[in-house]
Amino acid sequence: MALLHNRVSQKELKERLYQETEARTTISFYCYHPIQNPQEFRDELYKRLHPLKVYGRIYVAKEGINAQVSVPSSNFEALKFFLYSYNFLNEIRLNVAVDDDGKSFWVLKIKAREKIVADGIEDPTFSMANKGRYVNAQQMNKLLKNPDTIVVDMRNHYEYEVGHFEKAMEVPSDTFREQLPMAVEMLKDKKDKNIIMYCTGGIRCEKASAYMLHHGFNNVFHLEGGIINYAQQIQQEGLESKFKGKNFVFDDRLGERITEDIIALCHQCGKAADIHTNCKNDACHLLFIQCEECAKKYDSCCSVECQTVYQLPLEEQKKLREGKQKGIMVFNKSRSRLRPTIEEIQEMRFAERVECNNKISQ
Ligand SMILES: [Zn+2]
Ligand SMILES: [Zn+2]
Repeated sequence: MALLHNRVSQKELKERLYQETEARTTISFYCYHPIQNPQEFRDELYKRLHPLKVYGRIYVAKEGINAQVSVPSSNFEALKFFLYSYNFLNEIRLNVAVDDDGKSFWVLKIKAREKIVADGIEDPTFSMANKGRYVNAQQMNKLLKNPDTIVVDMRNHYEYEVGHFEKAMEVPSDTFREQLPMAVEMLKDKKDKNIIMYCTGGIRCEKASAYMLHHGFNNVFHLEGGIINYAQQIQQEGLESKFKGKNFVFDDRLGERITEDIIALCHQCGKAADIHTNCKNDACHLLFIQCEECAKKYDSCCSVECQTVYQLPLEEQKKLREGKQKGIMVFNKSRSRLRPTIEEIQEMRFAERVECNNKISQ
């Protein structure tokens, strides 16, 4: 039987990656489509993708596939050809990462999971077969002019805070699984309105649209390819952006500016600002919005307390952290302190994108 898993050490794999001279193309795609036997499909994918030197993570579940992979650029066409050979993946949009060096993955991991996006839905009658209608940027703008349209943002608060569609409704929860029932509850009197759901890349709002239909909403839409795709279309087609501010993305910039509007406020002085930062005090690391003046005034710390710690010699900071471990944990119970660090968010987002649920055994 062919080997369907990697057997080479991590170290060796990384070395191999760095010795590669050819450029890699990083792509992501997802598709909700019933897959009868995810394990079988998984093995088939592995057999076909391994020879193409595809690295990255792919999750397959009964509800579909979610992938983020890199491929030697000369194999890109072959990969595309292979993917398109499946009816359900034919012509699927492959999102190519723009500023990626292709070194993010050094091994191919394909896993059969319960779900491609963790949703907490336990209702066995729920299915992704009945989804909302896709809208592109132009259709989105047109629908937004209609007073009977309600736009729903399916992202997290820190994302909404720095940029969102005009009049978009926020669903105030930290997790997607909590947001789903919450959105139904918030909109229960609006079943005949046009409901447009959106998120960063489309995978969450597509599921949310099916969930709304399942709960008796009649006119549900979702933004195809999410804000990322909307921003591209706006530019290419010269349309007005109804999305204002920044799209929070998970690279070093922590946000891609879509319009010049600054819709958030500095968490310290209340002045218009939309730059996310992590508190420089390593014992805190709070993710928050800080204006340039406050960054100078507080040494990029979130508070005077943190600044005082930050200004101590490193050794003393370390000692202080050891002693205060417990205190910090208690402090973490405060709602605002629950905000994760940038690293945690990046991890979470990756988990959300390609992994489905940490609770499901590896
Ligand atoms: Zn400020
Ligand atoms: Zn702090």
